[in-house]
Amino acid sequence: MTVLIEGGTVVTMGRRGRVINPGSVVIEGKNIKEIGETDELKLKYKQADIIYARRKVIMPSFINAHHHLYSTFARGLTVPGPAPKNFSEILEKLWWKLDKALFGEAIYYSSLVPLMECIRHGVTHIVDHHESQSYQIGSLDEISRAVEETGIMAVLCLGASDRYGKGVRGLEENERFLRKKKDCIKGMVGLHASFTVSEKTLKRSAEIAEDFKCGIHVHCCEALEDGKKTREKYSKGVVERFRDAGILNEKTLLIHGVHLSGEEMNIIKESGASVIHNPESNMNNAVGYAKVLDMMHKGIRVGLGTDGMSSDMLSQMRAAFLLARNEYKDPNAAFTQAPEMLLSNNPKILRDITGWDAGEIAPGNSADIAIIDYDPATPLNENNFMGHLLFGMIFSDVDTTICGGKTVMRHKKILTVNESEILEKCREISEKVWENIK
Ligand SMILES: [Zn+2]
Repeated sequence: MTVLIEGGTVVTMGRRGRVINPGSVVIEGKNIKEIGETDELKLKYKQADIIYARRKVIMPSFINAHHHLYSTFARGLTVPGPAPKNFSEILEKLWWKLDKALFGEAIYYSSLVPLMECIRHGVTHIVDHHESQSYQIGSLDEISRAVEETGIMAVLCLGASDRYGKGVRGLEENERFLRKKKDCIKGMVGLHASFTVSEKTLKRSAEIAEDFKCGIHVHCCEALEDGKKTREKYSKGVVERFRDAGILNEKTLLIHGVHLSGEEMNIIKESGASVIHNPESNMNNAVGYAKVLDMMHKGIRVGLGTDGMSSDMLSQMRAAFLLARNEYKDPNAAFTQAPEMLLSNNPKILRDITGWDAGEIAPGNSADIAIIDYDPATPLNENNFMGHLLFGMIFSDVDTTICGGKTVMRHKKILTVNESEILEKCREISEKVWENIK
């Protein structure tokens, strides 16, 4: 089937970074066939299904490099007892209670909601990190089912840990899921964080990653506790421990990196591993600021995630941008680096861990496209696109989302699943989950 996205401002991103206005994009099957001037393509593809994009921006869809789909039922949840006072208490009183309360159906429904929100925000690829200590084996199948139904693409793992004496089961689930072969869903080996993972679990995770030639997805130095507890127990820092276990390489994702020393950054740079920045989450948990501009300056690849805070990558990019300016006390900081994390580094990271080619509108590439309802008030061109993105487009709705040639949302209507039915069912299931927490 041929689809013609007609008459918008095409922003290709990628190496050429062209802006074509008015421009059109032709999709054939799963891939982009041609991009160019609207009049010419309209004549050439008279039979195509036309998606009108006048007064809109057509650009590559977005990638979320660290999500927690299971976090949905924390919305509106009141945890028993006094409010958490620090990061350890946030984990113990909220997240570890919630993930213990989840069951199969709850995992499936809690995944559907942020997946729909991804589609609403033009996000077609996510790297998810799951936890559900009472329902580990089979948990990734529940998420996988939700991902397939919504029609986007995902990299899944379960964050194994020994915090409840079942690290082995978590790794079993990662290994079981990695054996499955699917086009739109891939696996990684998930670990929670250094301070909850024993030497045995760490060693085994390295072996599984080696067997499947995949990366490790792990929280790293999110709060001071991770480094402190790791040093007390193993007489070395988190990054050193990971390096010694052989898990640092270009497929490894280190999430947060809030408390990294210069020496730890050097080790990460040498290894080729990526750091994923989640500024909204770091602010929400009051854990500190990840010095991402220092990391990028050293040559570390820094990507962008939401850590379950939302599914909106443009707002996350703006948070990264504003927070960097405030933290570095520099009104010129991060204008190029914040968009680079989302639009350049996330596609490279995704390519390294999956082989998928999202992030550029180019002939032959997978047709992963977001059409954004943005009619600029000033001229938009190749030289000033980032200014429009950071100060204008982030406030605009996404009109249409296309993943691998499949239109999953058209003119603001999600086509793959029934949103209101899912939300209704979620309200029912969330009460059962909350009941388990009391
Ligand atoms: Zn996380």
